Amino acid sequence: MQTAQLYQIYQEFPTVCTDTRQISKDCLFFALKGDNFNGNSFADQALEAGAKYVIIDDSTFYREDPAYILVEDVLTALQDLARFHRKHLTMPVIGITGTNGKTTSKELLHAVLSQKYSTYATKGNLNNHIGVPLTILSLKSDLDIAIVEMGANHVGEIAFLAEIAQPTHGFITNVGKAHLEGFGSFEGVMKAKGELYDFLKDSKGQIYVQGDNTHLMEMAAERQLEDVIYYGFNPANDVRGGLIVADPYLTIFWNSNTHSDKQHVQTHLTGAYNIENMLAAVALGETFTLSTEQINAGLANYIPQNNRSQITKTARNTIIADYYNANASSMAAALGNLEVIQADKKAAILGDMFEMGDQSEPEHRKVIEQAKALGIDKLVFVGKAFYALKDAEADYYETTADFKAALLNEPLTDYMILLKASRGMAFEKLMEEL
Ligand code: ATP
Ligand code: MG
Repeated sequence: MQTAQLYQIYQEFPTVCTDTRQISKDCLFFALKGDNFNGNSFADQALEAGAKYVIIDDSTFYREDPAYILVEDVLTALQDLARFHRKHLTMPVIGITGTNGKTTSKELLHAVLSQKYSTYATKGNLNNHIGVPLTILSLKSDLDIAIVEMGANHVGEIAFLAEIAQPTHGFITNVGKAHLEGFGSFEGVMKAKGELYDFLKDSKGQIYVQGDNTHLMEMAAERQLEDVIYYGFNPANDVRGGLIVADPYLTIFWNSNTHSDKQHVQTHLTGAYNIENMLAAVALGETFTLSTEQINAGLANYIPQNNRSQITKTARNTIIADYYNANASSMAAALGNLEVIQADKKAAILGDMFEMGDQSEPEHRKVIEQAKALGIDKLVFVGKAFYALKDAEADYYETTADFKAALLNEPLTDYMILLKASRGMAFEKLMEEL
């Protein structure tokens, strides 16, 4: 079936589903394939659950029934449909990529722009070759602004996603060492993320650059970007700001070329790295002519979720839960944050960083060195990669379960505790012992 034809059906039934456990009535069910499943085999089930049409690519599951749409490749059909839909949309689309902080930046920006506009942002972390099309297909034409998170773990992916999402505005949160297996090297990361700049430059979109970040500045200079809006800590930036206090919640200040009066905002966020995420949201808020009150209200009211920069007070300790993911640069950011927070006793419990490829050993070693240099009261490393580097200056445990068992004998009390690890370390299991 041609994309134009599928688009006609989509216009009448504009809800897309890919999971039979979450079918909404009259949706179009795209039977995607994964490593461990073949969506085609769920087509009947999707229809029974209320889907209007099923889009499949395996003729053995096809039936002579108008509800079955057979295409060459379901994923391609989904992406093509998204591309087609995007061409019919006229609202600004803000694209966000970067190694760390995409989701947080997206949510902060959503909170800010929603003070004035009807805004849609990527749900959860739907930021890949499936998530971005799904996000685009969720956009209704009467929306004012869309925010699309774009993730990548290999070169070419952001170019591909940008071509689907067609952002009109965008920024790269940062570039760091993550998914090195897929990117090959740090240069690969810079090239891959830079594809967002390339797209925006070619399409004359508005680019925002963190003006204190040497990598991003280098990438901007390489491309001779013009009319960039700079944000950051340095007063030379168009939008600039900084920390007033982290107790552990951040109170920040900012001002800009447009609003020279110094603004103060008390937030529900921790993590010094979030200051720049907020300044990006301020810069975009200004582009879209929000008042300082609206910008400040958006920042102040945003409450993080999903174990990203979340603070939890338990009976014994205060926990900075940040175990949704971890890589070398977000570890450094999280440690930097722990350093600036005011607390009597600090502990860092750091778990293995996954997907580091042959950089795993040196990067884990670097985190150990970095953490030791901060003079944290208690330092614990958990996981096989850290354990392999065991020394006498900190506590090392091979598994999360081992450390949990140790906590039963020797509990921690009255600490400000940073919990940071890759998702696979399952650090949430430690919460009940802290
Ligand atoms: P994913 O690749 O999983 O989608 P993401 O880029 O969406 O990740 P977030 O989930 O927003 O990132 O944040 C993950 C962690 O990255 C945060 O908890 C924090 O430790 C770190 N982080 C957030 N913002 C920054 C930043 N600007 N610079 C460096 N690290 C950051
Ligand atoms: Mg994300």
